[in-house]
Amino acid sequence: MVIMDYKVSIVKCDDYSHSRDCIIEALSMIGGLQSLISPGDRVLLKPNILAACKPEDAVTTHPSIVAAMCELVIEAGGVPFIGDGSGMTHPGATADALRASGMEDVAKEHGAQLINFQTGGYVAVEVPDAIHFPTLFISKAVLDADVVISLPKMKTHELTYYTGAVKNMFGALPLRTRKEMHLLADRKLFGEAVIDLYSVVTPHLAVMDGVVGMEGDGPAHGTPLKTDVIMASFDCVSLDLVASGIMGIDPSIVPTTIAALERGFGNPEPGIAGIDPAQLKRKYRPSSGGILFNLPPFVTRFFGRYFEVRPEIDPSRCVLCGACISNCSVNAIEKVNDHLEINREKCIMCYCCRELCPENAVGIDRSLLAKLVTMSGK
Ligand code: SF4
Ligand code: SF4
Repeated sequence: MVIMDYKVSIVKCDDYSHSRDCIIEALSMIGGLQSLISPGDRVLLKPNILAACKPEDAVTTHPSIVAAMCELVIEAGGVPFIGDGSGMTHPGATADALRASGMEDVAKEHGAQLINFQTGGYVAVEVPDAIHFPTLFISKAVLDADVVISLPKMKTHELTYYTGAVKNMFGALPLRTRKEMHLLADRKLFGEAVIDLYSVVTPHLAVMDGVVGMEGDGPAHGTPLKTDVIMASFDCVSLDLVASGIMGIDPSIVPTTIAALERGFGNPEPGIAGIDPAQLKRKYRPSSGGILFNLPPFVTRFFGRYFEVRPEIDPSRCVLCGACISNCSVNAIEKVNDHLEINREKCIMCYCCRELCPENAVGIDRSLLAKLVTMSGK
């Protein structure tokens, strides 16, 4: 059920040990979970699990937030699933991130299924009225859910200044599409592309972890900043408007918010329940922009084409068991004579084949630029 309500609730939460009580209070101010979840609904909890970082690094949504949401979903009669796809390019990145961030433990403790978007499969979805991406490959787990709940972390971002409930759905895309969006190399165009995705995967609810946010070089390399807030809304755009304001970031410059409002999502003046946001207002130090976004767009696009991390099948190891072929969402693995090759045009770089190969026959071919950037060559 989609609830059209632009109210944003704001609750002070000065410690993660109070997460559950604060979330209950925030949800009660906007109508509660019962209005959203029907008995037996598959409820996908989508935290921000960008990288393999510990909860105290403030890169990822805190496990206490996800644990509380698992409990509340079960109490409302739903079946919780926890899932995300890491933004890192090395294979196995999502599994590492789910473990390091505490999601694996939360899932075990609450009997929730943990879904690695990168190995869970992707489905091609048409995007009506798309601006940049008329077709998107989207995580099957997201599409299969009856209810999607975005659980963003309050952070700065090198490209969109602020990353929150709308941008959190970026994790539903395979890495190839994420790279293509970044290579638009323009904040406005990137915001529009994210809204292409949001227009077909609009979460039903957002609950933001702003107990400890991240300032400076977010979304991955900034500094934790205690902000003492948990927020909730049935509308991600409205939540982002209020949250970015609390961080001292003018909501009218956030590309994802601008693009969403222009496409008819959200409300430029959402109602507030709970604490006055002015009482919590901070001045988050902005992200310095990162190497890609301090360059002119044409330079970024030019070099971006040469940053490649691609799977490659080693015929000397491959025993032609077929596991990779049957699990490749886009049928990119083809038999050529007596061996397998990956069709580079079709491959969406999910690395599922590498994760599932029992013979460790799928290696990684890094371009020279990718080797230089990662400085490891692994
Ligand atoms: S899963 Fe591995 S061994 Fe099996 S066909 Fe694919 S590359 Fe070969
Ligand atoms: S070839 Fe491998 S990395 Fe490429 S889309 Fe298929 S499973 Fe994913």
